[in-house]
Amino acid sequence: MQKHDQDYIKKKNKATVFQLIKSSSPISRASIAKKTGMSPTTVGRIVAELYEQGFVKETEEQVTTGLGRKATMLELDRTSVLTAGVELDKSKFRIGMVDFDGRIISLREVNREVSETAEQTLNRIGLELQSMIEQEGMDPGKIIGLGIGMPGIVDEQSGEVILSAQLGWRNVRVAETLKTITGYEVAVDNELKVKALAEYCYGAAKGSKRTALIGFGTGVGSALIINGEIYRGETNSAGEIGHTIVDPNGVMCECGKIGCLQTYIAESSLITESNKIKPISTLNELFEERRKGQFWAANILDRAITFIGITIANVICLYNPDTVIVSGDLVEKYDEVRSFFENDQLQQYVWEPLRDTYQVVYSALGSEGVVIGSSLLAQEKFLSIEC
Ligand SMILES: [Zn+2]
Repeated sequence: MQKHDQDYIKKKNKATVFQLIKSSSPISRASIAKKTGMSPTTVGRIVAELYEQGFVKETEEQVTTGLGRKATMLELDRTSVLTAGVELDKSKFRIGMVDFDGRIISLREVNREVSETAEQTLNRIGLELQSMIEQEGMDPGKIIGLGIGMPGIVDEQSGEVILSAQLGWRNVRVAETLKTITGYEVAVDNELKVKALAEYCYGAAKGSKRTALIGFGTGVGSALIINGEIYRGETNSAGEIGHTIVDPNGVMCECGKIGCLQTYIAESSLITESNKIKPISTLNELFEERRKGQFWAANILDRAITFIGITIANVICLYNPDTVIVSGDLVEKYDEVRSFFENDQLQQYVWEPLRDTYQVVYSALGSEGVVIGSSLLAQEKFLSIEC
């Protein structure tokens, strides 16, 4: 067996034991061995590691086994570790302190000026985190790291943002800079990828084996979770469906290509189209125009809904997921779009053999998804433990 195979198995075994203690505590070492099929020696070694790391503690409670011996019970020390999760967006950032169970114990939202430089924003994140820790009286020793989810292409290995069109950042060493500012280890990833991870661990995709999350917002993107792991592709860009070309005779995309999918659905595109007829600046105003009976608004939105259907159907064809999570204001907030899903109009776009192979759901964690997912990313990266 190759060395990396052995490492992989060790990591998997540790995660399995950790999961079991987390979900079934209090539990004895013998029960863990029985339930996982691992040898008592392996279980003993893993538990000792987890104990040393402070994640697991022995309870007062003891049970008598069949042979009349006392067995010590184990449970997770849920207060042993905290991770901070940050959602970074164009006009705001949110910081949450998250416990072992993915619960946000403190959350704050801070406005961001669009004109701010990357350095200014990262400094403000550091200051806000520091102030949260002090004001809430948190033990800094329990915080093992910080995760950030943001739009764009991110090299999650080095923590460098390669390109974020929304923030106007190019080649920004986010992890390195923020580590210098805060002193904590920092993990960075694309927001949809961490959101999908959070939904898999604690939300709408719990128990799913193949989850696709599609985000409809300032752009259109997707993320795929296979057996609990984020599918990244070669450069962590897998899922960027917004820039797949659907009409070579279409309109110019911000990326410089013609007819990208997101030119029909992204908020900014819908607003640009609307402004050919009437000056409006928000999606709310566009939906209002439609409700007032304006045909132009109905035309723009009907076309957007058609492309939402095409996007989901294409993702189903590409990935064959068991669960598709749709996320973003456009699909979650407006009855006109919700009825598209509730009346199952999506069916007309899906290739026949793939019908009835998937469920489409809304995100369960809503606006907290990225904060929770970013903290989970930090947990996974710095503890080597999966959810
Ligand atoms: Zn494009």
